[in-house]
Amino acid sequence: MIRVGIIGQGLVATHFAVGLEKLKYNEIPDHGVPLRNWLPYKYTDVEIVASYDVDESKIGRTVFDIALRDYPGNNIPGSLRDIVIRRGIHLNSLKGLPIKARGREEEKDLQQALLELIDEWKSMKIDVFINVMTTEPVEPVGRLGNLEKRVMEEDVTASQAYAYAVGLYCEKVKPAVFVNAIPSPIANDPAFIEFYKQKKGVVFGDDGSTGATPLTADLLEHLYERNRRVLDIAQFNIGGNTDFLALNLPERNIMKKKTKSSIVEDILGYEAPNYIRPTGYLEPLGDKKFVAMIIEYLSFGEFKDELYIVARINDSPALAGLLVDLVRLGKMALDRESYGTVYEVNAFYMKKPGPPGFKAVSKYHAYMKLLEWAGVKDPRF
Ligand code: NAD
Repeated sequence: MIRVGIIGQGLVATHFAVGLEKLKYNEIPDHGVPLRNWLPYKYTDVEIVASYDVDESKIGRTVFDIALRDYPGNNIPGSLRDIVIRRGIHLNSLKGLPIKARGREEEKDLQQALLELIDEWKSMKIDVFINVMTTEPVEPVGRLGNLEKRVMEEDVTASQAYAYAVGLYCEKVKPAVFVNAIPSPIANDPAFIEFYKQKKGVVFGDDGSTGATPLTADLLEHLYERNRRVLDIAQFNIGGNTDFLALNLPERNIMKKKTKSSIVEDILGYEAPNYIRPTGYLEPLGDKKFVAMIIEYLSFGEFKDELYIVARINDSPALAGLLVDLVRLGKMALDRESYGTVYEVNAFYMKKPGPPGFKAVSKYHAYMKLLEWAGVKDPRF
């Protein structure tokens, strides 16, 4: 059994919880789960045992209640009634958003709040933590020597505090995984990589690669392999979910810009001018975002071609499907004692794959390396 704790019971987490239960009961096919049933761990091996949030309207309610409110349709698996959403650490992560939030560090100090969380996690024997909380502005800690001091001084963001607490949990209780599906640099922060190696933990990250970004990565690979010269890339994303609402705030938007646009130079080997980031919030679009992209490039004889892409993409289910793999791969990394991080996993599933210094590659290349690492065979090859 792989016991999972969720951080941030928003749309992605809710799609993950509902989808996973439906998969277990064969109520839906596994489209959108890249490694399907090829892994040694099966869907039925995964169990969500805890969920944390800081939104007052969610704390104390069950994942079932939240799914009934936010998941389309009303066929919600009854098993989600067993997961009650607990209060997490806030550290102002929802500042500036129209959400009433409170974290447990507001009643005691951060250190105590983190120790309390670790005790809860111990009682629930959590193996894998999934971070899908709201995107926050974060700078990496950098040096491991600074990490503890920064936590003591409460000079960390919520993601950094959770990642730190999970590291301590690995040392005090048992090895565990922190899947960082949001843009905060955790798998790209040398301090956390070193910390997880020392504490016997695994961190995957950063920022789940869904929607237009993996498609752009593969298009750029296509153009590179044909030695076409990319002149520029413009990619717009407009959505109506709370993630887009949060990303409308400039300091949060910059986080996505950092993870999304880093693929261009990594794959092409040169910096083509680009605008790739969430562009706006339009509530009626809901979770089905609008994506438009244009890539201009020079072909043989310096003739200019253009690629146009227009798409509507269901945002949250895309990441939820990847999480079904990441949880199982996380447990495999623990079984193999691959502490620190695993680039082969990050390169396929993340926009900015850690550890620092490693590049984003096209998803095609990443897929082949991932299969090799996981020791599974795609029946086509
Ligand atoms: P959401 O706004 O629906 O959910 C985020 C949840 O996190 C909310 O319930 C919020 O209250 C909670 N939260 C905020 N601060 C918290 C804290 N300190 N502790 C615990 N919970 C906290 O957003 P979403 O659409 O579910 O996306 C979640 C995250 O996943 C975002 O950061 C987003 O950038 C990232 N992401 C999403 C996609 C995708 O949807 N395809 C892809 C890549 C990354």
